[in-house]
Amino acid sequence: MTGTINGRILAGARDLDSAARFHAINPASDDRLEPAFSEAGPQHVAEAAGLAEKAFPVFRNTPPGQRADLLDAIAEKIEALGDKLIERACQETGLPTLRLQGERARTVGQLRFLAEWIRRGGADEPRIDPALPARKPQPRPDIRLRHIGIGPVAVFGASNFPLAFSVAGGDTASALAAGCPVIVKGHPAHPGTSEFVGRAIRDAVAEAGLPAGVFSLLTGTSNTLGAALVADPRIQAVGFTGSRAGGLALGRIAAERPVPIPVYAEMSSINPVFLLPAALSDRPEALATDFVASLALGAGQFCTNPGILVAQEGAALQRFLEAAAEALRATAPATMLTPGIAAAYRQGVSSFAAHPAVRQVAVGPETAESNACRATLFATDANSFCSAPELSHEVFGACALLVRCADEDEMVGVAEALEGQLTATIHLAAADHPFARVLLPILETRAGRILANGWPTGVEVCHAMVHGGPFPATSDPRTTSVGTLSIRRFLRPVCYQGLPDALLPASLQADNPFRLARCVDGVHQPAPADA
Ligand code: NAP
Repeated sequence: MTGTINGRILAGARDLDSAARFHAINPASDDRLEPAFSEAGPQHVAEAAGLAEKAFPVFRNTPPGQRADLLDAIAEKIEALGDKLIERACQETGLPTLRLQGERARTVGQLRFLAEWIRRGGADEPRIDPALPARKPQPRPDIRLRHIGIGPVAVFGASNFPLAFSVAGGDTASALAAGCPVIVKGHPAHPGTSEFVGRAIRDAVAEAGLPAGVFSLLTGTSNTLGAALVADPRIQAVGFTGSRAGGLALGRIAAERPVPIPVYAEMSSINPVFLLPAALSDRPEALATDFVASLALGAGQFCTNPGILVAQEGAALQRFLEAAAEALRATAPATMLTPGIAAAYRQGVSSFAAHPAVRQVAVGPETAESNACRATLFATDANSFCSAPELSHEVFGACALLVRCADEDEMVGVAEALEGQLTATIHLAAADHPFARVLLPILETRAGRILANGWPTGVEVCHAMVHGGPFPATSDPRTTSVGTLSIRRFLRPVCYQGLPDALLPASLQADNPFRLARCVDGVHQPAPADA
């Protein structure tokens, strides 16, 4: 029932138990939270995958409007959970109430945004090339294309977005929009939050009269659960946000299956920020305080956290550093999501501190709290950065490295040495445009999103968003996990040649019964309601 949790595994409409149990931990206090949760394992994967397989033929053939209504209903049910969802998420993640309220708004907004998009044809994306019987030397047959769901999708909930990238997050929303049943592997750090949302989705599925196997939620603490899910032959694609090691491990399992499947993994990104000379000398203090605010937001636990700054030596950089150090020293430590993530952060910071080519610029205040993050800024030089790959590794949390460059050529060298990124940012003034023209073509090959005079934290959910990028930012640089383009990951095109109208799928029939936008003979035709 929506609005209660009992620690059970949600396999379609069934609540399942297991002998093994685990508890969530409040990272702010290290206290164990009730209730105990049943550990899902391979037997539950088998059950959920069987249900998903049965649900797929029905679900993928639902009219886009019916899937849109389902997404809207899920959004409504999540909102109806009210404060208890936010309170539980606060306890399980240490994230503040305001942040979680904002994340809930983003989660339901995203569901509704995708709903509106698919209602107008955004999932089917029909294309029609009418027959040209008089064409010489050969007539052209009637050729039509639509997209169909790829099959049941496994979604790994992310630890750092307990709502927006978790049970009803972007991967689930885009897979359901595509007509794919979803099995979520809930993140074990927030099982109660996951169950609240999972029950909301389950109820929405039932009320829509859809097969129960459209959605299952399996939460557990062992890697064997996720591994069994990716290996299950009924799963056809995977959405993942987490560590590079985790994403790569799941990718290997998927690639070694008798029938390999795509894994859309978002893994690690250090989101370089280039401070161009004129911008830096115009506003060093403002850039410094804005940078520290972005770095420390949410204890730095964002995939778009600005982990690398690149700037030229000089008086302006000195003023920037003094202002950044002051802001960092005034930044209160913040609780991290889990004891494991806090320990990994401390380890990453210690590695930088011990590196012979790195020096610490400033660190946030001391704290007695065991899982708190002290924001930290380090500095190195361009030569060291380019010759020491370990300095490019993500330290998940509020830790950044300034790369000091002698001149523009060294800044270019740093840009060329970067691995794939979710974002790359340039701060520039008008006088910086010529140098920006040199950097931009390099950054285009490194990042999925390029920003000017902003900060990468904060990802708008919109049609033009790319939250993706070359490896190791993601496993597939052709895709995004945010925005309407995210649905494409879980679709595949099917072409119909010469089929009589009565046998065509409705989205391709002459009278366009779903009233979708379509591309006819290469020309976009808006949805009839929009025309
Ligand atoms: P994680 O360890 O990668 O785990 C994410 C999910 O994947 C969990 O459900 C985990 O299950 C599963 N998983 C991981 N490795 C697996 C494997 N080999 N086989 C099967 N399942 C596997 O990420 P996390 O727990 O969120 O945090 C750990 C670290 O990940 C952080 O310290 C940070 O470095 C990184 N991280 C990065 C981002 C980002 O956006 N860049 C976001 C979150 C985390 P189990 O819990 O059962 O292992």
